[in-house]
Amino acid sequence: MSKQITADVAVVGGGIIGCLIAYYLTVRGIKPVLVESDAIASGASGASGGWLTPYSASCDPRVIALSPATLDLHWQLAKQLPAETGIDHRYQPITYLRCAFTEDGIRRLKEWYRQRLSEGAQVEWLGPEAARHLAPQLTGEILGAVRSDGEPTVDSYRLTVSAAQAAEKRGAKIVTGRVVGLLSKPAGGGASEPRTATGVRLQDGSEVSAGSCVLAMGPWTGEAGQWLGYPVPVRPRKGQMLHLERPGPTEGPDFEVAISGFDLGGSILPKRDANTIIGATREDVGFDRTATTEARDLLLSQAVRLSKKVLSAKLARQTACLRPLTPDQRPYVGPAPRWERLYLAAGHYSEGIHFGPVTARAVTGLIVDGKAGYDIAAYDPARLLTTPAATG
Ligand SMILES: Cc1cc2nc3c(=O)[nH]c(=O)nc-3n(C[C@H](O)[C@H](O)[C@H](O)COP(=O)(O)OP(=O)(O)OC[C@H]3O[C@@H](n4cnc5c(N)ncnc54)[C@H](O)[C@@H]3O)c2cc1C
Repeated sequence: MSKQITADVAVVGGGIIGCLIAYYLTVRGIKPVLVESDAIASGASGASGGWLTPYSASCDPRVIALSPATLDLHWQLAKQLPAETGIDHRYQPITYLRCAFTEDGIRRLKEWYRQRLSEGAQVEWLGPEAARHLAPQLTGEILGAVRSDGEPTVDSYRLTVSAAQAAEKRGAKIVTGRVVGLLSKPAGGGASEPRTATGVRLQDGSEVSAGSCVLAMGPWTGEAGQWLGYPVPVRPRKGQMLHLERPGPTEGPDFEVAISGFDLGGSILPKRDANTIIGATREDVGFDRTATTEARDLLLSQAVRLSKKVLSAKLARQTACLRPLTPDQRPYVGPAPRWERLYLAAGHYSEGIHFGPVTARAVTGLIVDGKAGYDIAAYDPARLLTTPAATG
């Protein structure tokens, strides 16, 4: 049965971005309605690596500059959310080794290392012996590595669910339903642009009237192009991962250090009290979310070149989900062009868990204070009207 609901803010999408926006709004005394078509964290937010790093995608210095702020917010959330919901989302500082297997890989990894040093990152260059001393599981193929201690991990499913539950406890309402359009009126009283968003319309005929609206629909945000009147080029890029069973205290391999193949791909990410993750593919196959044997074989073949322990570990499960990708690999966060009281928060590609808190705080700031409070100029959706919708 269709319903009429009224809220301070309508947030569309119950992934990490939408749930953290709902949470931070409630912290500021705002009562949002969060609309999710499936289940909370049913998208990539529930099946990501949960690695808090700004270096997965474009390595844009303006985006990397937001990393200390989002890491600080993650650190605060690791204390606040478990206290509010009882859910431990397994925030964990780890040591990470980016490894190179080839001479060309060593050259490119050294460039990467020098760039990070110039940005003030906590990184250290290790020769092969020093790398193997730190992580005896490394295979003999590795020629060098960069150690980093500033990129923690979380369980992104637990974090997203915990943010939603904390928001609900503080007065947010969660509605299950698919948003199919915006409610709006002309901003200045006339029939021409811009328009003011006054709520969202659901597939079952329900309406949520709201003072402001936020679209945080992950890879599905492209659908909003029909509502906004211009293309919103967010598209899916599939990622598959393997979960290696966590051994008992005396049996099987334990992966104490996270490692990745800088030049040959693949990564092994140990998680506190959970399975070790092997990641991840990058596939342009639309909205397909099936796990494939080809991906499993590719991921295992990359992982065995990284770690001697992989062959004796037991495969627990395989997951597949969709990263939200924009043409320039930067998300759209901020006011939607040609609209009033409408905000976009989508397209974080492979860094949405990391940049979720700073995104959510910025959107909350825009709605409540009229300013983001962070330099999110690189994320400005105004570029939707100026850059061609190229593919990323
Ligand atoms: C294999 C893999 C590994 C990853 N690893 C990492 C990592 O280690 N670190 C990191 O920071 N990031 C990682 N990411 C990226 C990260 O998972 C995403 O950037 C992030 O989850 C995106 O969050 P979101 O809230 O924007 O989207 P989503 O999690 O996709 O959530 C969007 C939600 O909106 C809902 N929705 C869509 N349309 C509608 C509608 N019309 N009405 C109502 N609801 C709607 C969907 O059902 C969905 O629940 C990884 C991604 C993949 C695929």
